[in-house]
Amino acid sequence: MELSRRVQAIKPSPTLAVTARAAALKASGRDIVGLGAGEPDFDTPQHIKDAAIAAINTGFTKYTAVDGTPSLKQAIIAKFKRDNGLDYGPKQILVSCGGKQSFFNLVQAVINPGDEVIIPAPFWVSYPDIVILADGKPVIVEAGIEQGFKITPAQLEAAITPKTRLFVINSPSNPTGAVYSKAELAALGEVLRKHPQVLIASDDMYEHIRLNDAPFVNILNACPDLYERTLVLNGVSKAYAMTGWRIGYAAGPEAILRAMTNVQSQSTSNPTSISQVAAEAALNGDQGCIAPMLAAFKARHRYVVDALNAIPGFKCVDSGGAFYAFADVRPAIQTLLSRDVIEQGSDIAFSEYLLESADVAVVPGSAFGTEGYIRLSFATSQANLEKALKRIAQAVA
Ligand code: PLP
Repeated sequence: MELSRRVQAIKPSPTLAVTARAAALKASGRDIVGLGAGEPDFDTPQHIKDAAIAAINTGFTKYTAVDGTPSLKQAIIAKFKRDNGLDYGPKQILVSCGGKQSFFNLVQAVINPGDEVIIPAPFWVSYPDIVILADGKPVIVEAGIEQGFKITPAQLEAAITPKTRLFVINSPSNPTGAVYSKAELAALGEVLRKHPQVLIASDDMYEHIRLNDAPFVNILNACPDLYERTLVLNGVSKAYAMTGWRIGYAAGPEAILRAMTNVQSQSTSNPTSISQVAAEAALNGDQGCIAPMLAAFKARHRYVVDALNAIPGFKCVDSGGAFYAFADVRPAIQTLLSRDVIEQGSDIAFSEYLLESADVAVVPGSAFGTEGYIRLSFATSQANLEKALKRIAQAVA
């Protein structure tokens, strides 16, 4: 049977694939430590669960408005005002089944075949494939460790063509943890100002997972004049340990949000009614529930980055946010290759070796568009991290 060209051009999410492989090996009896997953290891806070249980018990279990319940949209509007100093009305908000669907809807709504989407690498694995599903063209701009995993204004300028329709910025970043400063965002905005055909997608999914004292800023805080062509994407998955509830949201110009809502209305309809009630409780409730999770992420981050830097052939810079360390392992790969421990000098072969010989699952950098690195998630217990790092150090010694 012939499948569509579109679907043949995409691959399953590599991070989900690593997680599934680690789970299968675990089920077969191996003591695998999985550092592949992109989700908090904490339980969803109790007051959020209680709200959802009450929603079920009171029969709030039917279709809602496609774009989200009015009260959740009000909670999102209040969140944007409170946390980001941004003003939106209800027609500028769309609630979706996770941040992934928010980006999918956006791309379906604005990309024509052949339109170019600028994606800085290392990137979240789904951006390019979602663009390909819309017959768009991902234009990858490389930003390695030597530039702090952040693209420069000159790189952005060089990547823009008359076909560029969208620029994606994700800060704090998955997979690198890099965070753009207000000045850096202002400098990118300076370039974007010259190209009015380019929309901007600011993926703020890791807004609350900040590992140092730098405040959160997005490009609209740096360049308020870009409001009419910026889409802000966010969600409750990472901040409130709610990955399974599937609630993300988007805000931006009304006409684009209306189009995104049409995409959603002809694909999935509303996100789960119960999850919407839970998300409302998360956004309106006590934000103090984030603090203990954040404290743990900070402590683990310190441990992981220091432990990685102590391994010969590894180099890792501090993450400003999110719960990942992205280590440059190019010298370690070369060492293992020269000793015939691995057959190919690639991060994929290296990650396979760690899985087979050290029983540790990590994600190769090439999954994120950047060869020679590995991503370790520290959304797992300190005990697991210590076990994993000891095993990795032994395996490459
Ligand atoms: N954006 C980034 C950068 C992410 O890392 C993720 C999840 O891994 C998402 C968006 C989507 O999150 P979800 O669809 O689980 O809400």
